[in-house]
Amino acid sequence: MFIKLILVLLLGWIGINLMQRYKKNNPSNSKKSQGQKMIACDVCDTHVPESDVIKKNGKNYCSKEHVE
Ligand SMILES: [Zn+2]
Repeated sequence: MFIKLILVLLLGWIGINLMQRYKKNNPSNSKKSQGQKMIACDVCDTHVPESDVIKKNGKNYCSKEHVE
């Protein structure tokens, strides 16, 4: 009986921990994308996140079509 009680408490504690981690991870992820540097495309002047920018010959492009 005592062991069962400990198991239930342990499972509950793990569940709460996972929930808190999940809640903590979500806002930090959205912060990351919001805090990302925006770079203007050299062709159409559209601003895209730095990670999505296509860099070629020292210029920045929003999409493959504009690289050509
Ligand atoms: Zn463009």
